[in-house]
Amino acid sequence: MTRIVYVNGRYLPYAEAGIHIEDRGFQFGDSVYEVCEIKDGALIDVTRHCARLQRSLGELSIPMPMTEAALRHVMKQVARRNRVHNGLVYLQVTRGQAPRDFLFPATAAEPGLVILARAIDPAKVAAKAGQGIAVRSTPDTRWARCDLKTVMLLPAALAKEKARQSGAQEAWFVDEMGYVTEGASSNAWIVRADGYVLTRPLDHRILGGVTRTTLLDVLKSLQVPVEQRGFTIAEAQSAKEAFVTSASATVMPVVSVDGHAIADGRPGALTVRLRKKFHELAEITPIERFLGPA
Ligand code: PMP
Repeated sequence: MTRIVYVNGRYLPYAEAGIHIEDRGFQFGDSVYEVCEIKDGALIDVTRHCARLQRSLGELSIPMPMTEAALRHVMKQVARRNRVHNGLVYLQVTRGQAPRDFLFPATAAEPGLVILARAIDPAKVAAKAGQGIAVRSTPDTRWARCDLKTVMLLPAALAKEKARQSGAQEAWFVDEMGYVTEGASSNAWIVRADGYVLTRPLDHRILGGVTRTTLLDVLKSLQVPVEQRGFTIAEAQSAKEAFVTSASATVMPVVSVDGHAIADGRPGALTVRLRKKFHELAEITPIERFLGPA
């Protein structure tokens, strides 16, 4: 349970925390975020998450709300104060509050910063990974800067909800040419019959997942051949294996696409191996000692 959150300079009880009604994140989606995994009392790949945050902010001309070192400190504090040993830390930076106007505020607003941490039961994630998930495809109706991790997540929320209603746990967006771009909240991968691992190359249509980058390191270390190119739903359905990657689920096997089972409908052997291997190459940053009751 989330007990304490960080909001604009203060650690507040979850139930009492709030942001201003004229925060631009709320009114315009003028805001970016990061989700970093917490595993066994450590932040996973925090350097890459901070680098992506800086890039998203830079592209939108939103200043960093504090130094990276201070940000890391607050992320750890929030994890500690909530006693989150396994789960995630979520942070959001908004352009700040100003009377509603499409134009940026004339005098630079203070960027807003919200950080919360949430525990996730590793046994539940392991059980889900043991089964694998179903995905449902949907046209990619998002904007042309999906490389930025903004909070404009309505198309992703709609797609995920539609997927859920059809019994799937993730949606895969498909572009006008029939190629999978990425998942609603994950990057998409398949393993071809010849053993090649395929994932779409980075461009403005997809988010450069931190888990994706680290997994490419893992694949290299295992000398697994990788081809960064798009694939169709038909290719995914006839693939040997399929999976998605995200900070909250690391490597999650996909066992069916649009109701069509992948291979024998069970998590693939390479996928399972990659899931096991992932944290050996990820960056581990201990949160250090846990405080007493917060
Ligand atoms: N693509 C999208 C659209 C996402 O929302 C996410 C997860 N936030 C990802 C990919 C995976 O990124 P990461 O591995 O950094 O969590």
